[in-house]
Amino acid sequence: MIVDQDNSQSSATIQIAGAGPAGLAAAIVLAKAGRQVVVHEAQHQVGNRFGRDFQGLENWSTAEDVLSIFKKLGLETDFTAQPCCNGTVFDPWGTAHTIHSELPIFYMIERGPGPGSLDSALLKQACSLGVEVRFDSRLKYLDSEGILAVGPRAADAIAVGYHFDTDMEDGFWAICDNRLAPKGYAYLLVMGGRGTMKSCMFSDFKHEKAFVERSLETFQRLAGLEMKNPVPHGGAGNFRVPISAYSGRHPQVGEQAGFQDTLWGFGIRLAISSGMLAGQSLLTGENYDDLWRRELLPQMETSVVNRALYSLVGNRGYRWFLKQMTSSQNIRRSLRRQYQSSWPKRLLKPWANTRYQSQRQDVSCNHVDCHCVWCRGCSTA
Ligand SMILES: Cc1cc2nc3c(=O)[nH]c(=O)nc-3n(C[C@H](O)[C@H](O)[C@H](O)COP(=O)(O)OP(=O)(O)OC[C@H]3O[C@@H](n4cnc5c(N)ncnc54)[C@H](O)[C@@H]3O)c2cc1C
Repeated sequence: MIVDQDNSQSSATIQIAGAGPAGLAAAIVLAKAGRQVVVHEAQHQVGNRFGRDFQGLENWSTAEDVLSIFKKLGLETDFTAQPCCNGTVFDPWGTAHTIHSELPIFYMIERGPGPGSLDSALLKQACSLGVEVRFDSRLKYLDSEGILAVGPRAADAIAVGYHFDTDMEDGFWAICDNRLAPKGYAYLLVMGGRGTMKSCMFSDFKHEKAFVERSLETFQRLAGLEMKNPVPHGGAGNFRVPISAYSGRHPQVGEQAGFQDTLWGFGIRLAISSGMLAGQSLLTGENYDDLWRRELLPQMETSVVNRALYSLVGNRGYRWFLKQMTSSQNIRRSLRRQYQSSWPKRLLKPWANTRYQSQRQDVSCNHVDCHCVWCRGCSTA
């Protein structure tokens, strides 16, 4: 890896490709240390691929609250974040399993360019620190010091459905049923008179339309879903544990590296964490692969095992899982146990790796002179 000896003092401008959570988190870390940073964003605004999507910022993988962790790491948390403690998950037979937690299981947040969204808050903080963000700037090559943060490169899962206005009360609902969302789940999030309904599927994408319509009908029947002004929306996720997260000498962060929660697709925290680690590696000269392997790898490997198990168990297994989870005194802690590395899950890792394969080839590039933002051609892996 080629890194300046005293990076924190270097005057060279750092280029970042992609103004998603991963790229902006990296920019914030670097700008706070006094580095000049230019972020290139291919679209004309932040969060363009999400529109006004509601998403869950998961709050179970650590005992400490995610917003408090972000604050300690130096991120402003002045985006709208609705604490979600109570909700309902339906099993394939339509039985409601009530979720209750003293502390938020996740925070409902908005993605996209709107006021109060996560993306707008990160952009605001980055700009206030002097980061230059260039919109409509799609990088193809990066031949100077920089970070690659351009988002998913393959579709290992898709989430498809609608954004809409509604008179429904705020809340969250989910359904685990392979007839609605193969090997995944359907979800409904409502906040402040607006909502998102999606089928998040891990296979059989070509029938996505049928799954979305079935999810819609089922939410109407079970949760009283009412949509006004529905706008179709969807996107893909890329889940992969990379061999190396360098492309040439550039750290790849967020979903470009494949950093995701392979079980359910809660990738925002991993995107932000990996962005911050990449920023740190440029500042200190520490090897980025060492950093993410230490901080992120155990959880990512566990999520591959969880995915292999979840894909195997089918509808009856979902019902069993929901009963276990909702009978727990502390659902956050129970979920955290599922997300943490443990010896049974480490034992299952070789089996899980044969069951789960990303749609994306491992294009970790070891070619030190590679300047491609999304390297495919010179892969040696
Ligand atoms: C429908 C949907 C629902 C989801 N729900 C959740 C959820 O509830 N909870 C959760 O935690 N995660 C969720 N995720 C996953 C989460 O959104 C991603 O993991 C996260 O956004 C990844 O952040 P990122 O910065 O790596 O990539 P992105 O957010 O994709 O940002 C990458 C940016 O790079 C830009 N770009 C691309 N190419 C170039 C280029 N060549 N040059 C310059 N810029 C470029 C793109 O325009 C984009 O703005 C969801 C994903 C989808 C699709």
